[in-house]
This record gives sequence, structure tokens and C-alpha cells, in this order.
Amino acid sequence: PLRRILVSACLMGENVRYDGGNLFTDHSLIRQWRREGRLVSVCPEMAGGLPVPRPAAETHGGDGRAVLAGQARVIARDGDDVTSAFVAGADTALETARDRRCVMAIMAARSPSCGNREIYDGRFSGRLVAGQGTAAARLAAAGIPVFNQHELEEAAAYLHSLG
Ligand code: SF4
Repeated sequence: PLRRILVSACLMGENVRYDGGNLFTDHSLIRQWRREGRLVSVCPEMAGGLPVPRPAAETHGGDGRAVLAGQARVIARDGDDVTSAFVAGADTALETARDRRCVMAIMAARSPSCGNREIYDGRFSGRLVAGQGTAAARLAAAGIPVFNQHELEEAAAYLHSLG
């Protein structure tokens, strides 16, 4: 069977970011995987019911793992608690990955949903801390490796290692 890859919709050029923009990633590996029909795009925040545009949000009290454990919250810049939308979006991202048999994910770095290594510290200060976004944490906990758009070579090596 074709080994599919879950991808953050904004990396595919879809205007789904909080500011209505995207993070289109024009890379030969992405083009190749798209041609091969491997890419399954998802925006966890939209899947969780949030609109475009929307206020930026950051995780408070821990990273996405802590959010999923009920120990941290996701708060928008306007003060709204958007934790439940983030958790719903993370669940949908995992369901989509499972339904489409994705073997790994390529998610947008530093997003409170999609970030795989670092996220912002919750103070809207521009400072990064180690940690995962909520959807990335859900995928990783389910055994789906999550790479970001700067780790495409590593992602390709992982895909290759699956044979
Ligand atoms: Fe992109 Fe993920 Fe943010 Fe959606 S939730 S805009 S896919 S980084």
C-alpha cells in the first residue's frame, strides 16, 4: 500500500493560518510526494472549529502533551480559552492520519497545534520553549513520527527506512 504522509494544510499553501496566510513550502520532496499522491492535508485548528482569521494562540502551563492531559490550556491573544478546539482538532488530525493510513506527519514548526519541537512560551513574547503542539503531541503519542518543514530530508530517510 501507498505510504501516506499527513501534512499541515498551511505548508501546502492553503490560507488557513491565524492571519489568513500560509507557509507554502516549495520543495522537491513535497512536489514528489504530492505527485505520488501521498499527501493528506489537515489543519487541526480549523478541524477543531476555529475560523480564519483568528487571534493567535499559545499554550499556557505546559506543552501540547500537558494540554491533552488536562494540565495546560491554550489561550488566544484576546483571552479566549480555545483549549477544547485545539483538543478536538488534535483528535481529528489523528483520526485522519489513521483513516488514510499515514505513516508519518510533516507539520508546521512552532505552531501551538502543529509544532513538533518548540512552541512559544505562552506570554506572546516571541520566546520559544521546547515542547510539542497539541496535534503534534497527539500524533507522536500514537506512534506517528512528526517532522517539520525544515526536516524534509530526515522525513524522506524515515520513509525510505520503511521500505
Ligand atoms: Fe498550519 Fe497547523 Fe496552524 Fe493549521 S493549525 S494553520 S495546519 S500550523
